[in-house]
Amino acid sequence: MDFDVIVVGGSFAGLSAAMQLARARKHVLILDTGEPRNRFAASSHGFPGQDGQAPAEIKARLQAELSVYATVSFRQSRASKAERSGSGFTLWLDDGARLACRRLILAYGMRDHLPDLPGLTDRWGATVLHCPYCHGYELDQQPVGVLALNELAIHQAMMLPDWGQTTLFTQGALDLSSEQRATLLARGVRIEETPVTGLIGDAPALSGVRLADGRTVPLAGLFLAPRVTPASDLAEQLACAFEDGPTGPYVAVDPMKAASVTGVFAAGDLASPMANATLAAAAGVLAGGAAHRSLIFDPDLVGKV
Ligand SMILES: Cc1cc2nc3c(=O)[nH]c(=O)nc-3n(C[C@H](O)[C@H](O)[C@H](O)COP(=O)(O)OP(=O)(O)OC[C@H]3O[C@@H](n4cnc5c(N)ncnc54)[C@H](O)[C@@H]3O)c2cc1C
Repeated sequence: MDFDVIVVGGSFAGLSAAMQLARARKHVLILDTGEPRNRFAASSHGFPGQDGQAPAEIKARLQAELSVYATVSFRQSRASKAERSGSGFTLWLDDGARLACRRLILAYGMRDHLPDLPGLTDRWGATVLHCPYCHGYELDQQPVGVLALNELAIHQAMMLPDWGQTTLFTQGALDLSSEQRATLLARGVRIEETPVTGLIGDAPALSGVRLADGRTVPLAGLFLAPRVTPASDLAEQLACAFEDGPTGPYVAVDPMKAASVTGVFAAGDLASPMANATLAAAAGVLAGGAAHRSLIFDPDLVGKV
């Protein structure tokens, strides 16, 4: 066996999982392709002790902490194929390597699929955002919008008045009931049913949106809940079960982050409907500890599904 555990994805979840294993002197390899989900944002907010740091800086610090442990290795490479074999797993990498491990932790995160709207992609992570707790404070209580792509927009529009005067753009994606409409209006949310056709301002800054009838609405930030898909299909290859989340599928795990396939653990955004760095790190801690305990208490995977 090459490694006790291979961790696929070396960001908040994967590095936190590896730390638990490193501290138990397990031989752990972290594979990473260097594309964390928050790479579009200049700063990350809410991660304890690191509020306002650049995402790359936080990751570099976590990597530096891990690199002092003698049993930890890093490899900048994509895992493209995974199979259960004997009492462990075999992983094939894009760089041609084939590696064996006893346990697998999947922490490769999610991809966001942004709607095709002129000016939107240029502003993702700066003024086009998914989470008010992450980046809403920096908008300084200026007017904000919610671009509806699905029902989650109603929830976002109810939350956002705490960050600024809010307009909900229904964008043909919502058919609001009279009760929903009354609840939103009572919260001070403006409802705009004319579709948004583009974003305006000096990107990545935002000064507003243009509507199909030629009107403009001034805004400093636009929130949406994009459709997400896993950043790799390794969990499907291994036949792990999935759950349906409000914006897309995620890997089903038990409270200790064990997936439905024995010996596979999943953590972070890949195994959660919520995108948050601290939650991803916490899930990684659980997955790392659980993988370690399974090596002790359930060492033989042969014959287990
Ligand atoms: C624009 C934006 C801004 C955000 N800002 C904040 C914020 O301020 N605060 C906050 O708490 N949360 C924020 N988030 C959410 C946060 O980014 C995620 O919750 C967090 O990154 C999840 O961590 P993770 O380790 O699960 O996955 P990721 O951070 O996405 O890391 C997954 C890693 O796996 C690697 N990978 C993928 N496939 C493979 C493969 N096949 N082989 C090897 N490696 C692979 C990727 O390159 C990546 O490095 C933001 C999200 C977005 C989209």
